[in-house]
Amino acid sequence: MDRNREAFDTDWTQFPTCPYCGYENDDYGCFEGDGDRVECECPGCEKMYIATMHLDINFSTQKPPKCSDCGKEYLVGRDSLCKTCYQKERVRKGIK
Ligand SMILES: [Zn+2]
Ligand SMILES: [Zn+2]
Repeated sequence: MDRNREAFDTDWTQFPTCPYCGYENDDYGCFEGDGDRVECECPGCEKMYIATMHLDINFSTQKPPKCSDCGKEYLVGRDSLCKTCYQKERVRKGIK
């Protein structure tokens, strides 16, 4: 076991987390960019610690799938059908 992280998860946390008391400091406006090391005073226990900011922002996009019935792109649907066709299909099959 790594003795530095015996009590709190302080690596890759959403907010700088105090290694002494575990207080999550959501006021991190003093950070400016990736890899910034900032001395923080914990609002919870008032001890100083060093926090390093990691910026890891990713996005993924994709085009909506096409409805296998009417061929229109749809955002909300099921079973490869757009919402309209899916509802028609349910009515056709008599599913409530
Ligand atoms: Zn603290
Ligand atoms: Zn459709």
